[in-house]
Amino acid sequence: MKSFRRELWFSTARRREFINITPQVEECLAVSGIREGLCLVNAMHITASVFINDDESGLHHDFEVWLEKLAPHAPTSQYRHNGYEDNADGHLKRQIMGREVVVAITEGKLDFGPWEQIFYGEFDGRRKKRVLVKIIGE
Ligand code: ZN
Repeated sequence: MKSFRRELWFSTARRREFINITPQVEECLAVSGIREGLCLVNAMHITASVFINDDESGLHHDFEVWLEKLAPHAPTSQYRHNGYEDNADGHLKRQIMGREVVVAITEGKLDFGPWEQIFYGEFDGRRKKRVLVKIIGE
């Protein structure tokens, strides 16, 4: 069995962003040389997500509005977590959007359903953060 590991680094300009990381994951897969197996992609930080959905700007806006309704950033004093930090909403948003995705690899390609793309979801950005890509197979 072959195994491949790489960290992708992000430093977003804004507190919250969604970034399509499918091209980077596809590059990892190409470098790995793995044709059949599984690809895990996970956020390495507890205020960031990795998720699969449509690359459609209206939907991304809807996610932002929905998450902000569920866990508004302000007032920051509403959260017990916000003693030294102001990112309690980021932890809650990440929990809803998920930590990781697993994608099947078939004939050397990510075996997506229609319109599926992999996203990095940042909820407390403006600093360096990582995503782990781990691919196993043969
Ligand atoms: Zn925190």
